[in-house]
Amino acid sequence: MSTLRERFETVSAGLRPGVRLVAVSKTRDVEEIRALYELGQRAFGENYPQELRGKAPLLPADIEWHFIGHLQRSNVKHVLPITKLIHGIDSLRLLDEVEKRAAAENLQADVLLQVHIAREETKHGFDPAEASAVDISGRTWPHVRIRGLMGMATNTEEEAVVRSEFKELSGLFGRMKATAPTYFDTLSMGMSSDAPWAMDAGSTLVRIGTALFGERPQP
Ligand SMILES: *Cc1c(COP(=O)(O)O)cnc(C)c1O
Repeated sequence: MSTLRERFETVSAGLRPGVRLVAVSKTRDVEEIRALYELGQRAFGENYPQELRGKAPLLPADIEWHFIGHLQRSNVKHVLPITKLIHGIDSLRLLDEVEKRAAAENLQADVLLQVHIAREETKHGFDPAEASAVDISGRTWPHVRIRGLMGMATNTEEEAVVRSEFKELSGLFGRMKATAPTYFDTLSMGMSSDAPWAMDAGSTLVRIGTALFGERPQP
């Protein structure tokens, strides 16, 4: 059995220059998160609003929380004040809600558009063509900064499939970046099983849970 420190060192050593690590801490308890914090990790990703709201107040205030799950409009008001970046924006109605809540709180919300690149039907997100039609200029949603794109590849062992999906998303990111504000700088792709391929394709942020904390217990 490897230790948390060893796994953290292995994952960190695998990051390409300039790629940020978000430690995915869904289902992990406060003590496990604190242990990784004490090794120096500051960015953590959560999927469920309830769980995030329960754990965040019990942990150091300088943790940067990322919301990486599917976000319902009714939960935006709970998640927004505690998160640094919302990765899973998958509809214009959700953007409208983030705008409304950010304006009410008088803050700028940083978000990513989730793009559907996988073969699975179940993954949320804009289709690539829909994503490229979203107004990322800041004019339509003045309290929202669209910082980039997020995507998940098909859950398969077929390397070529995963690589080509990441390449597709990276190509879209590059084309959108060409006309975007300078803060459009984040391409969130890659998890424990496929992070090296995501980084090969140009990921700037990987979301890694299992490779750090071990297998998640099934609920
Ligand atoms: C759970 C999750 C991850 C992390 O997956 P691992 O395989 O444990 O690294 C990354 N991104 C999203 C959106 C997730 O829900």
